[in-house]
Amino acid sequence: MTDCLFCSISAGDIPADIVLRTPDYVAFHDINPQAPVHILVIPVEHHQSIAALGAANPELAGGLVAVTEQVAREAGLTDYRLVFNTGADAGQSVFHAHGHVLGGRDLNWPPG
Ligand code: AMP
Ligand code: ZN
Repeated sequence: MTDCLFCSISAGDIPADIVLRTPDYVAFHDINPQAPVHILVIPVEHHQSIAALGAANPELAGGLVAVTEQVAREAGLTDYRLVFNTGADAGQSVFHAHGHVLGGRDLNWPPG
């Protein structure tokens, strides 16, 4: 058992609405979506942030970006936002590296 939420989801110990699984990555719907499409993409391997992942395993970090593109396409998105909150002050609340794939509405930012 692990005390990391996303390791638990990856292991199948906590249920999630999984949209893609490969040996190295899992993608699942965010439980509190901020857009019509809001999918999280994680590496199975635990790293506390995208920064830590990139430093420890650049190949796995690059592959994560490729998976986000696949997930976005399969969700019907051509345009989307890919977000990696890094550190608590930037809004990171789960300390297992994950990318947010957001789309399905106008995401022009800042608004106006
Ligand atoms: P962050 O704030 O960047 O660390 O993102 C963590 C995300 O995980 C948030 O958008 C949460 O809504 C989402 N989240 C938290 N618990 C779950 C869960 N059990 N299943 C799916 N998404 C979750
Ligand atoms: Zn983890």
